Amino acid sequence: MKINWTGFSKKTPAERLEFLKAHELLQDENWQNLANQYYLPLETANQMSENVLSILALPYSIAPDFLIDEQVYQVPFVTEEPSVVAAASFAAKIIKRSGGFKTKIHNRQMIGQVALYDVPDVAKALEQIQNEKSALLKLANQAHPSIVKRGGGARELRTDFLEGETDFLVVYLVVDTQEAMGANILNTMLEALKERLEEITGGQSLMAILSNYATEALVTASCEIDFHSLSRDKAEAERTAQRIVLASQFAKQDPYRASTHNKGIFNGIDAVLLATGNDWRAIEAGAHAYAAHDGAYQGLSQWEVDLEEEKLYGQLTLPMPVAAKGGSIGLNPMVVASFDLLGQPTAKELASIVVSVGLAQNFAALRALVTTGIQAGHMKLQAKSLALLAGAQEDEIAAVVAELLKEKQFNQAKAKEILTKMRKEK
Ligand code: NDP
Repeated sequence: MKINWTGFSKKTPAERLEFLKAHELLQDENWQNLANQYYLPLETANQMSENVLSILALPYSIAPDFLIDEQVYQVPFVTEEPSVVAAASFAAKIIKRSGGFKTKIHNRQMIGQVALYDVPDVAKALEQIQNEKSALLKLANQAHPSIVKRGGGARELRTDFLEGETDFLVVYLVVDTQEAMGANILNTMLEALKERLEEITGGQSLMAILSNYATEALVTASCEIDFHSLSRDKAEAERTAQRIVLASQFAKQDPYRASTHNKGIFNGIDAVLLATGNDWRAIEAGAHAYAAHDGAYQGLSQWEVDLEEEKLYGQLTLPMPVAAKGGSIGLNPMVVASFDLLGQPTAKELASIVVSVGLAQNFAALRALVTTGIQAGHMKLQAKSLALLAGAQEDEIAAVVAELLKEKQFNQAKAKEILTKMRKEK
């Protein structure tokens, strides 16, 4: 069904929910949970963490109409940062007009490691591990039979010898974790290997743990944007496209910029990870390690231009071992609603959505940066935050924002002053 989202951002939250209902974008139970703000029950929260006192809520939003691999997704975002959802929605709209995102799942396996030290004869130990490879894989699978039943399991075992202040013999285990992220699955398997590895190598095991540097779970999202979507003025569109390319080159060369460039990508990615109950620390850790895989920390996206075709090409590759099952997914009613909104994606589909969102967010940020500057779009939202902080009620916010925007510079004191004056004049 084609949905006309025009004017959605101008609606009230209640009207937006009615819109979702009218377009049957959610199952009734999930719709009720969103409408009644039935987020995490305290009893569930108390099982998920320790010393629980209460719940911290964050805005739950939607960025509509992401066209990804020929399918349209309505993407839930959880973020407290103003302008992230607006920027993502804007980028999704432009990129959809040019054919949407295409994604490629390079692989989807998780890696874990057992680190051994004080190995008396490294060459012999490496040889022994190779000889026992299939027995070790079997041992790993026996430690977690349910994932094998689901069609996954340990697939490969590799070794490395790291010489340094202390020499380490490292055994890497590669596991197909199906729909799960796999941290607990891998950790269980790795701990089951520890003892046998110590016997074979004669060394001491230091630790057995999953690696978040998930280089066997890479996903690429790409898009091509027609110049005329950038501006009606051809010269202006060409200049914007070329400056976006320069911005991506700058982020490859300067770590100060790369860090912020990548933070912008994660503005969108983290929001979707939070909404879908995924471990955002794990994904962030893997992506920042991947940003340095060439030896220096760099911007994660690439933008190129074809002046003859009048197109801007964007690409983003990231380790994306997200989960559609396991962890806290299924425990939190809002997360259940997110999966419903997304059409119950598999882990691979969710990975494609998340990386596409990252690319969209990056496009929106770069476009703003190389044209009007980032503050132009932020000022209104910043004014709104200040109005709220000053204590403005819902029916006062618009007027305070309008007055603030008339000022060259504004801050919380100014917002308070405007609000006090406005109330006196009432
Ligand atoms: P779980 O321990 O929850 O394991 C996956 C669960 O999903 C299992 O109970 C499994 O059931 C169930 N499941 C149902 N359907 C499927 C399916 N189709 N494919 C796979 N599993 C399925 O989660 P993970 O092992 O994925 O670990 C993720 C959690 O670990 C996250 O909460 C993360 O925060 C945390 N963590 C992260 C670390 C890190 O990133 N370094 C370290 C330690 C923990 P069954 O058992 O019946 O197969």
